[in-house]
Amino acid sequence: MTDSTANGGHPTGGGTTGGGTTGADACGEVPFVDLAAAHAEVERQVRAGFDRVLAATAFVNGEEVGAFERDYAHFTGAAHCVGVANGTDALELALRALGVGPGAEVVLPANTFIATAEAVVRAGARPVLVDVDPATLLIDPALAAAATGPSTGAIIPVHLYGRLADVRPLLELGPPVLEDAAQSQGAVPAAATDAATGGASGAIAATSFYPGKNLGAYGDAGAITTGSAELARAVRLLRDHGSDRKYHHEVVGMNSRLDTLQAVVLRAKLRRLAGWNASRRAAAARYAELLDGVPGVVLPPPAGEDHVWHLYVVRVPDRDEVARRLGELGVRTGVHYPVPVHLQPAFRRLGHGPGDFPVTEAAAAEILSLPMFPQITDEQQRRVADGLRKILD
Ligand SMILES: *Cc1c(COP(=O)(O)O)cnc(C)c1O
Repeated sequence: MTDSTANGGHPTGGGTTGGGTTGADACGEVPFVDLAAAHAEVERQVRAGFDRVLAATAFVNGEEVGAFERDYAHFTGAAHCVGVANGTDALELALRALGVGPGAEVVLPANTFIATAEAVVRAGARPVLVDVDPATLLIDPALAAAATGPSTGAIIPVHLYGRLADVRPLLELGPPVLEDAAQSQGAVPAAATDAATGGASGAIAATSFYPGKNLGAYGDAGAITTGSAELARAVRLLRDHGSDRKYHHEVVGMNSRLDTLQAVVLRAKLRRLAGWNASRRAAAARYAELLDGVPGVVLPPPAGEDHVWHLYVVRVPDRDEVARRLGELGVRTGVHYPVPVHLQPAFRRLGHGPGDFPVTEAAAAEILSLPMFPQITDEQQRRVADGLRKILD
């Protein structure tokens, strides 16, 4: 079993999957992620918070939701945060708040999790895919510019793997920029001016708190962050049946609220997120040392505070075979993502075929996500590196 199937019922799970880890290196396994280790660090606060919610029976839009929204806005530096049910809804709600709907086109990278494109279709608009930069595998700004025209309703850079895409050239193109920040909670823009942490230097950012994300709930959850009071209000209305007063409905919205119990978990974990991201950066630096000179392995380009290493993605020849042999050595890996959006049956409607996005397609055949989580030990990383060396030497 590779980790991309580890989380019950949500096989590709946005970014990482989570769940189902044993946390054990006792039996010699190196898990892909270790949610149990993260839980152990927050268990006391989470249980106390659950007790408060159970006593108050405020399961939807309870006090903890507002408190988390304030905490997360503060953490990111955005003026507003609105909690929603999951990251895909966050993207859809952000698009709808921006007024993007039928007749509009939305520019996004071909190398992303399916949800980015899915949200565009659910908002009634048409995804326009563009290829990515060969080094970072993030949206190529020149190609995004070429794809932007009078019908473009929004541009969605995806801060994939935890690395911030360069939003500045996109902001100059005109249409509003919606950042997909599902994998980048806590990443700091290199040229921080008024830009917020983890993505909200555009008009609005959408994020996911799927369990395996850097900030993960114990179920589905998501949020938008924005500097615009107007956009925040629009999402607030849309997430709750178009209503800001009980039984008064201004617009046709949906039901996409953030659970109070999830808000408890997120508040407890948020206090540790900066430290956890620092541990991920240290682990990424350690991999770079350990994997230096392993034949055939292409490492991800180095990064600073603008990367929170949600995933540590290397490129290797004959990837599936390498992953299989690592699995035999007890090292769990993932692939994010093996089939690009334009080659998925669900997006046949876009009329693309093999060869349309060569950089994305070449990457999809070679990328391999190595075990990465804040609590990963030196010993575990050594086992991953030794395994790769053994297989590739
Ligand atoms: C996880 C993820 C999403 C969707 O989030 P869900 O909470 O699973 O709906 C969207 N985009 C990217 C890049 C993701 O990794």
